[in-house]
Amino acid sequence: MIFAWISVLVLIIYLFWRFPQLRKTWYLPKRNGFVALMYHHVGIVDNPEEEQFPFTIRPEMLERQILFLKANGYTPISLTDLENATRAGRTSIQKPVMLTFDDGYQDNYTHLFPLLKKYNIPALIFLITDRIHSPGYMSWPEIKEMQESGLVRFGSHSCSHRRLRSLKDEEIFQELAESKRLLEEKLNTPVTAFCYPYGAGGFDKRVRPQVFKAGYLFDFSTKKGINPWPWKGKSTLRRAFPRGGETLFDYHLQLTRGQSKL
Ligand SMILES: [Zn+2]
Repeated sequence: MIFAWISVLVLIIYLFWRFPQLRKTWYLPKRNGFVALMYHHVGIVDNPEEEQFPFTIRPEMLERQILFLKANGYTPISLTDLENATRAGRTSIQKPVMLTFDDGYQDNYTHLFPLLKKYNIPALIFLITDRIHSPGYMSWPEIKEMQESGLVRFGSHSCSHRRLRSLKDEEIFQELAESKRLLEEKLNTPVTAFCYPYGAGGFDKRVRPQVFKAGYLFDFSTKKGINPWPWKGKSTLRRAFPRGGETLFDYHLQLTRGQSKL
């Protein structure tokens, strides 16, 4: 009998090793809470071998994901909703999901913005201030147009997208404070959200307090998972990461487990 069980176990381990697509998170318990979704590019990259493939979501897939949210009772929330719920310590918003986009790529204007307008969905975009107007990134007029739609708010993703942990204290503060100052000056609105370059390895006990010293209220990381709701601000905000090439079943896992694969 014990031999039979060991054989089954060995078979399961072999299958997980042989077929990575089986390593999905469906057997983890479902979690309720605030799901922040992390995206980067919206566009088309056909070759899965390309570096940008996991970071690029096809516009038609993003549209299917938005429809999935609507069909399954999720509430796409804005940064303003997050601010209000955090300030009040309570909220009536159920199944909150926030769409966040890192780096401020030009395709956010060309491919994402039309979808946000079509479905009246809010989003939060993290800008690297040194790269605004550079090839491949959005320009100030595009950023302002998105802001004026009332659907998009902007956060800081630092000035230069360097790994903050490797910088001196003064340089870290400069990256945080100068990007905030410039965005507030140009957009004429408070910038309350910061997102660490290089996510999970992007911050430590030395970096994080500086984010709040610079005046931010929210720090978004690439730590995977689902956040408590309403948000109390005790730790960095986790984000689920829907990758290019994933299915709607993966998306369901991202929304309910905070990650689709182990
Ligand atoms: Zn980035």
